[in-house]
Amino acid sequence: MSPSTTPVLIVGAGPTGLVLALRLAAHGVPFTLIDRRSGPGQASRAMIVQARTLEFFRQLGLGAEVAAQGIPIEHVHFRSGGKVIDRIDLHDAGGGLSPYPYILAFPQDDHERYLVAQLAARGISVQWNTQLIALVQDEHGASATVQTAAGEAVIEAAYVCGCDGAHSTVRQALNIEFPGDTYTQVFYVADVQLAGGFDHDLHINLGERALALVLPVRSRGVQRVIGLIPERFAQREDVTFDDIRGDVEALAGITVEHVNWFSRYRVHHRVADRFSQGRCFLAGDAGHIHSPAGGQGMNTGIGDAVNLSWKLAAVVQGHAPAKLLETYETERIGFARQLVATTDRAFRAMAGGGWFSRLMRRGVVPNVLPLVADFAAVRRTLFSTVSQIRIAYRHSAISAGHVGRTAGGDRMPWVPDEPAIAAAFNYLGWQWVVCGSPDSALVARAHADALPVRTVTWRTQVEDAGLIEQAVYLVRPDGHIALAMPRYDAATLDAYVARHGWRFTVPAP
Ligand SMILES: Cc1cc2nc3c(=O)[nH]c(=O)nc-3n(C[C@H](O)[C@H](O)[C@H](O)COP(=O)(O)OP(=O)(O)OC[C@H]3O[C@@H](n4cnc5c(N)ncnc54)[C@H](O)[C@@H]3O)c2cc1C
Repeated sequence: MSPSTTPVLIVGAGPTGLVLALRLAAHGVPFTLIDRRSGPGQASRAMIVQARTLEFFRQLGLGAEVAAQGIPIEHVHFRSGGKVIDRIDLHDAGGGLSPYPYILAFPQDDHERYLVAQLAARGISVQWNTQLIALVQDEHGASATVQTAAGEAVIEAAYVCGCDGAHSTVRQALNIEFPGDTYTQVFYVADVQLAGGFDHDLHINLGERALALVLPVRSRGVQRVIGLIPERFAQREDVTFDDIRGDVEALAGITVEHVNWFSRYRVHHRVADRFSQGRCFLAGDAGHIHSPAGGQGMNTGIGDAVNLSWKLAAVVQGHAPAKLLETYETERIGFARQLVATTDRAFRAMAGGGWFSRLMRRGVVPNVLPLVADFAAVRRTLFSTVSQIRIAYRHSAISAGHVGRTAGGDRMPWVPDEPAIAAAFNYLGWQWVVCGSPDSALVARAHADALPVRTVTWRTQVEDAGLIEQAVYLVRPDGHIALAMPRYDAATLDAYVARHGWRFTVPAP
């Protein structure tokens, strides 16, 4: 059989591959998406969709629809050693910082089914039952051998994106190391019905070498419990919920009436040595895996997909030289390394057995948390950290300029009740954001490049968000600032564009 050809082969239709596919489709880039499974994932793993992910969906016109399918977490309840410690009110914790000022509970299996349906609505289907078994590349392209029900086939691709999870075949074919370790603790995940009925809140329960999170699953009206298997059962592969029921119920202060589903798993913390090699890229769990504490894993994979998608689109469509693709690794691998280190520290602090963990559980959580949790500033810091809105690429080769506290590489700040910023957050393409009336030379230049200009009305809320009067910001298709200038300066812009060899892209009609 003669090989099929595609500009981009996406291996893996988990959340990372599905979002990459949706973004490439929105940019008008053809691709092939394969997965070895027979359909979308059944196992609901990640439970939290962060605000930054919802902002990325908003650019596709899907933000409100995704948000409506989950439950915004309004309260987090803490228990330590079986006693209630505190309740943090998260209602509007990120007010003014994002159009989605909350963390959303939305299980991964519902999420994946929704993304597959969105692709189908655009006339795109996943090639299920298609497994990558071999991959080679040279300077002209890559050749992927896949196993299908009808036998082996070859797909020739200009670029290959390995979104194929922790055991990535792409990563192995590229001989990229995946250093790190495996936690000794064994986790469980269960969907349960509670005696008290459905609960909308998040419960974090800490104990001596014990941890259990309880979250709501809207679509099934059940609670998801994620925790550590007690040490005495950790080595038993046949452990059931009934074995650990007493420990879980005492730790979390719950009575479980019915168990719909129960599974145990091990957690690793690893980051690949590289996120790209030649024409092949790693994204999502193929590049980084870590403790589920913090609800970051899936969101980080989606962030990878978003970062890679506009760069691939620009290169495939001839709007930028292939050098742009080098910035994918430099922008994303640093965050992945930092995330693996911080989730590791947080996990060890909360669930480890040493003196520091005991201090956290017995001292800091019961005594300090109730004192600080009522401060809005503490809640905002918590939101900014976990929501991923603070991810910035200031050190990237394509970030330039600094105005006030905002610099090239930062995410364009959100300003509530500001139509120009709302329009910027709705848009998937290059654009200008201008504070105050725009310079006529900028308007002419933007018109020539077919880029929209968003004119922000100057007022204190705009300044509070970190923008400066008369400053102009060139914004990338992923909502990060490429170039910040105190005033429009044609020479600075020309030098910036010439340095990178770009022609600006407009989204496909
Ligand atoms: C039990 C558990 C609980 C978790 N809880 C959380 C949480 O609470 N919050 C959070 O953010 N994250 C959590 N995670 C992590 C989260 O599930 C992952 O980060 C997320 O699934 C990564 O998405 P992905 O698309 O990169 O990879 P995956 O979801 O693993 O998808 C990879 C896809 O590639 C396909 N594939 C693999 N090999 C091939 C091949 N050779 N050919 C073709 N297709 C292939 C697979 O079939 C799969 O569909 C959890 C993970 C586990 C295991």
